Amino acid sequence: MKKLFLNNIYANTFRGVSKFLSAAQRKQAIKVLFLILGNGFVEVIGLAVILPLISMANNNSLIHTNKYLRGFYNFVGFKNEDQFLLFLIGVMVTVFIIKNVLGIVINYIQTKFSNGVAADLTKQQFKKYINYSYQFYKNTNSNLITRDVGTIPTEFSMGIILPMISLTSEAFVVILIGIGILTVDFKVFAIILAIFIPLLGYFYNKVKVKLAAYGEERSNTAPKTYKTIFEAIHGYVDVKLTNRENYFVQRCSKSIHRFYELLTKVYVLELFPVRIIEMASIGFIGTLFAYFIITGRDREELVSFLLLFTVAAYRIMPSANRIMTAILRIKNSSFILDILEKEDPYKVKGPSYNPDNISELSFNESIELENIGFKYPEKYDDVLTDFSLTIKKKSSIGLIGSSGSGKTTLVNIILRLIDDHTGEVKVDGKTLTSENIPAWRNLIGYVQQDSYLLDASLAENIAFGFPMEEIDMDKLNDSIKQARLEEFIEGLPKGVDTNVGEFGGKISGGQRQRIAIARALYKNPKLLIFDEATSSLDSKVESEILDTIQKLSDSGITIISIAHRISSLKFCDEIYELSKGKIIHKYTYAELVAKDQ
Ligand code: ADP
Repeated sequence: MKKLFLNNIYANTFRGVSKFLSAAQRKQAIKVLFLILGNGFVEVIGLAVILPLISMANNNSLIHTNKYLRGFYNFVGFKNEDQFLLFLIGVMVTVFIIKNVLGIVINYIQTKFSNGVAADLTKQQFKKYINYSYQFYKNTNSNLITRDVGTIPTEFSMGIILPMISLTSEAFVVILIGIGILTVDFKVFAIILAIFIPLLGYFYNKVKVKLAAYGEERSNTAPKTYKTIFEAIHGYVDVKLTNRENYFVQRCSKSIHRFYELLTKVYVLELFPVRIIEMASIGFIGTLFAYFIITGRDREELVSFLLLFTVAAYRIMPSANRIMTAILRIKNSSFILDILEKEDPYKVKGPSYNPDNISELSFNESIELENIGFKYPEKYDDVLTDFSLTIKKKSSIGLIGSSGSGKTTLVNIILRLIDDHTGEVKVDGKTLTSENIPAWRNLIGYVQQDSYLLDASLAENIAFGFPMEEIDMDKLNDSIKQARLEEFIEGLPKGVDTNVGEFGGKISGGQRQRIAIARALYKNPKLLIFDEATSSLDSKVESEILDTIQKLSDSGITIISIAHRISSLKFCDEIYELSKGKIIHKYTYAELVAKDQ
C-alpha cells in the first residue's frame, strides 16, 4: 500500500515536478505548503469543537466524563456548563470564519503559484525548443511543437501541480483528523481506513494503466486535430479544387471526437471514488445497524459510535475523494513529465551556444570547407563525401547540380544549421565552433526561395526580430534602397509601417524576395547566400533582382548562390557543379553558357 500510494505517485511525481521549478518557485511552494498545513490545523480544531458540541446537544454529562473536556473546563474555571457550551459555540464560529477566510487566501496563493509555474514553464519550453536543432524542426510536425510549448505547461499546472497541492493538503487533514479520532476512538479510525483504503486501492490499481494511456492518447489527439485544420487552411486552394472539404472535416471530426471521448472517460472515472466512498460508508452503517439488531446489543453504544463515525466521515469523505481525484489526475497527466523531460533527439553532443554571447570573428580572407562528409540520420547514403572548397572573400560563387545533389545541405553546413558533419568549416583559418556560431551568423545574410513573412509591418519584416522602437532607420532605408524596394514602399498607404501580413496574398513574388533581400542586407552582411532566391520569379523581375545582386557583388560582399537557371549566375566568378555530394566541374559563367549552348 505504501509503495502504491506514496512511492509511486507522490515521491516520483514530486521528484519529477521539482526539476521544473525554479528556486523561487520552490520557495513559494514551501509557503503554500505551510499555509495548507496551518489550514489543516484550523480545520481539525473546528472538528474537535463540533464533535463535543453535537454530543452535548442533549446531554451535558460529557463535560465531566471526557477527561480532555473536564480538564479544560476546570483549567479555565467556567461557572456553569451552559457558559462552557456558549464558549465552545463561539470558538466553533470563529474557527470556521478563520478557516474560510484562510481558505480563500490559500486558493488565491495556490492558483497564483500554479499559474505562475505554467507561465514560467511555457517560457522555459520555448527557450528549450527554439534551441533545438534544425533537423528536429525539419522532422517534427509544428502542431506537436505547439502542444509541447503552448499547452503542456498549462496541463502540467492543472494536471500535476494543483492535484499535488490538493493531495498534500487533504492527506494532511486526513492524518490530523485520524490522529484526533485515534485519541478518541481507535476503532472508528481503523474501520474507516479498513473500508476506504482497500476499496480505493483496488479501484486505483484497476484503472491506473488505462488512465495513463488515456492521458497520453488525448495529448496526441489534440495536435492531430490542429494538424488537419492547418493543412486545410494552408492547402485551401487545393482543398477547393479537389472538392475534398468533407474529407478534412471528417478527419478533424474523427480526432476531436476521440479527444472528447477520452476526456469523458477520465471525467467519469474521476467521479467513481466519491460513489465508492458513499456506498462503502452506507454499506458499513447498514451492516453495523443490522449487527446491533441481530445481536440485540445496547443501542446507546451504537448511537455514540455512529455519531463519531458520521462526523469523522463527513470530513474524511470529501478529503478521501479529493485525494483519490488528485491521484487519478496525476496518473492521467503522468505523460506530461515525459514530454517535459524529452530532449532534442537530433541534438549533436557538444557545448550549446548562447546567441547573446557574440564573440569576435573576422572574415577578411576566405571560408574553407575541408573534407566535409555528411549523412542524414534517416538516409543510408552520404549526402556529402570528402567535400573541399575554398571561397575567397569578395568572390561570388555559384552552385549548380541536379536536385538532391547536396547544394542546400552544403549551405546549411555553412550556416551551421547542420553541424554534425565530419571535416571542418574554417573562416580565415579559424574553425567554426559553438562559441563563434552567433558571431558567424551575424556576418551572413540568407535569402531562400520562399521567404517567411511575419504578420507585422514591413519595417519589422526587414529588421527581423527587432521591435519597431529598436529599428535603426538609417540601416532600414539603406537596405530598402539596395533591395530596390523604394518604389514599392512609396505606393503603400502607410509606407514601411504597412502590415505585410494583411497584404500577404497581395504581395508579388518579386516584392516578397526583395523584402527578403532587404532583410538579409539590414544585417550589413559580409557573406550573402541565395538559395534559389530568384527561381520562382519571371525573367523581368529576376533580371532586376540580379542587377541588385550584381551591385552587391561589386560592392565587395561575398556571395554564394544556388540556382538551376544558368542566367541567374551571371554575376558569379566561379560556378561549381555538384553531383552526389561532390564537385564534378568548375566553370566560369562564359564557359557554362558555352557548354549550355
Ligand atoms: P539540393 O539542394 O541539391 O536539391 P539537398 O541538399 O536538399 O539537395 O538534398 C540532398 C539529399 O539529402 C537529397 O537526397 C534529399 O532528399 C536529402 N535530404 C535533404 N534534407 C533532408 C532531411 N532533412 N532529412 C533527410 N534527408 C534529407
